Amino acid sequence: MIKLNFDEIVSFYVFFFIVTLLGSWIFSVFFKKEENNRHELPLHLIYCSICTFVYPSSSLNGMTLCPRCGSYNEKSKEDHRNIAD
Ligand SMILES: [Zn+2]
Repeated sequence: MIKLNFDEIVSFYVFFFIVTLLGSWIFSVFFKKEENNRHELPLHLIYCSICTFVYPSSSLNGMTLCPRCGSYNEKSKEDHRNIAD
């Protein structure tokens, strides 16, 4: 059996504790980068037909809610072309 004194045991314990913390930190940094890239939705500018307010929306369905007047607006290709021009 390996004979260890108290100082060696403490130094091994601290060493493995620091290595575990560093490894989990590096893993979380890389994991969060992949999460951010995966959940990135394309933003579209929606033109409100009631109050002429332009707001960004990342909704996947065709209907968006105007934050100013509360009316529903349909996301269509004509709106995008008018905003881009
Ligand atoms: Zn509006």
